Amino acid sequence: MAIDKATNLETFMEGVIERNPGEIEFHQAVHEVAMDIIPYIADKPIYKDLRILERMTEPDKIISFRVVWEDDNGDLRVNRGFRVQQNNAIGPYKGGIRFHPSVNQSILKFLAFEQVFKNSLTGLPMGGGKGGANFNPKGRSDREIMRFCQAFMTQLHRYIGPDLDVPAGDIGVGSREVGYLFGQYKRLVERFEGVITGKALEFGGSHIRTEATGYGTVYMMQEMLSHHGEHIEGRDCLISGAGNVAIYCAEKLIALGGKVLTLSDSGGFLLAKDGLNQAHIDWLKNGKKGPTRRIKDLAKEFGLKYNAKKKPWNVSGELIFPCATQNEIDGAEAKTLLKNGARAVAEGANMPTTPDAVKVFSEVETLLHAPAKAANAGGVAVSGFEMSQNSLRLQWSAAEVDQRLHETMKRIHDECVEHGTHRGKHVDYFSGANIAGFTKVADAMLAYGVM
Ligand code: NDP
Repeated sequence: MAIDKATNLETFMEGVIERNPGEIEFHQAVHEVAMDIIPYIADKPIYKDLRILERMTEPDKIISFRVVWEDDNGDLRVNRGFRVQQNNAIGPYKGGIRFHPSVNQSILKFLAFEQVFKNSLTGLPMGGGKGGANFNPKGRSDREIMRFCQAFMTQLHRYIGPDLDVPAGDIGVGSREVGYLFGQYKRLVERFEGVITGKALEFGGSHIRTEATGYGTVYMMQEMLSHHGEHIEGRDCLISGAGNVAIYCAEKLIALGGKVLTLSDSGGFLLAKDGLNQAHIDWLKNGKKGPTRRIKDLAKEFGLKYNAKKKPWNVSGELIFPCATQNEIDGAEAKTLLKNGARAVAEGANMPTTPDAVKVFSEVETLLHAPAKAANAGGVAVSGFEMSQNSLRLQWSAAEVDQRLHETMKRIHDECVEHGTHRGKHVDYFSGANIAGFTKVADAMLAYGVM
């Protein structure tokens, strides 16, 4: 039986690889899901015979376009923009926009595929998509960013809409970029409508959207620990990244009494032996409004230890929060983390653990490991709340949104437990999230017939 399952998975992945040559991040994301779904549907012919998983791995549509803009010297620059509309079985496409030099079709397809399961887990009516461009915002002036966002939206606007596809921010796209993107959309279509989330409060944004992914990741950790009779207070926490997700993950941990020892960026990481405090977080947050502040400068400003060109995974810590980017913990680093006392991992970033690292963690049953599609779903959940508020033409209070966010994360946790509890007590949060996310989308696809 075990051999059959492996063979099925292998055959399935051979097809995926053949249809999507060279797209290694996409292969990785599909493999992580197929590993759990193929055994799950083995005795459910309705899903198997109607090839639901094969259909889910094929994006509904991929749009790719040229983005031409003028830099401050008057030189023309050319970038490539994308939108991957992966699946809209349960609602309009929904997912962020990433501006980073590494952006390519494979990365956006992996993110869009993950997004389908994540959005399903939130319990809200949202399909999955993702977009972006290979544009590097680092070192660009405010005007250059504005011109790029306007050129990008000029191409994208005809493919999105409040009932069609609702983008949001991601790496390199924060509230400033969302403002420029939304402004250009509004100018082009001559309508004010909820077409993008992560907007500022003054023009249709939701309270807590900025904080949601980081806070939600911590709520997920809180739920995992509490399910096992433990809590965050007094525990040593390691965070990677120093962007939107990392900042608010740190802020919530500090508020709950966790000791945040590290933050990082692509230049290195900082170590705060006594734990970071709100003043450190405020310094970073203020930087986000103007020129981005670096970890190196934070360390210098507050006399903390800075380690250039290194990741934080050699530091001893119990609660681990990778919040920077994909594949940032490899197998060797996972082993080091376990040796140094890791008790739980909550993935703030998308797919931050390599397949080797996932395997290393999965072999230790006592380790609690929440995959990104569950742990960082708080961001898109509050985006969903922003869409609801836009439709209702009202704005909920910060306390109300935070409470809804916490309830959503608790529900996601409980669904993972329901579908991922094996051998009596052990909870496999990966398979729990995959199965719970899959079922709803698959059932909707079945209802529509063959398409
Ligand atoms: P930001 O752009 O705000 O911050 C990203 C942070 O990660 C920066 O500190 C950046 O450092 C660091 N980083 C990025 N790439 C690398 C790299 N290759 N190596 C080392 N450090 C790196 O992005 P977000 O915080 O919004 O997103 C972080 C992760 O969370 C991504 O995986 C994203 O998809 C995921 N996510 C975000 C959501 C959101 O609501 N924002 C929602 C759900 C998931 P530097 O500045 O030096 O590049």
